[in-house]
Amino acid sequence: MDDVPQICPRCQSRLTLLQGGLRCCPKCGFEGDTPKGGPEESRRRSPTLFWILLVTPAFLALLSFLVGRTSDKTRGLGMAIGLIALPIGLASSLYCSIWLARRFGPSGSLNLLMVFFLLFVLAAVNFVIIGAGCAPNFTID
Ligand SMILES: [Zn+2]
Repeated sequence: MDDVPQICPRCQSRLTLLQGGLRCCPKCGFEGDTPKGGPEESRRRSPTLFWILLVTPAFLALLSFLVGRTSDKTRGLGMAIGLIALPIGLASSLYCSIWLARRFGPSGSLNLLMVFFLLFVLAAVNFVIIGAGCAPNFTID
């Protein structure tokens, strides 16, 4: 921490070292060099996986529908994709619920409550989408 400049980047006056390694400027109130690895670390997690998992069940439902509609021969495959999509939809709902609750939710036991609420909503939405995409494969026409 000794290599960190002791001069305020805003007003060039001397910084005061506070407890916990936090430096602040007594003149302009600048606060810098927040200790690394705080709770902020988990908030910076990449949302890429979240978005992929969020749309995967809907994508599988669409795939199930399209494959099942292509011909009578591929209808079984469409059904299989729909059945695979159900546990995947549940798993992705769980991941997305925890991710959202950690990022935007309150702390403590309310966070767990939010996870359950989001899981219920996301799982319901996913199952409706998968059901709608997969159901035509089960009808005999
Ligand atoms: Zn300053």
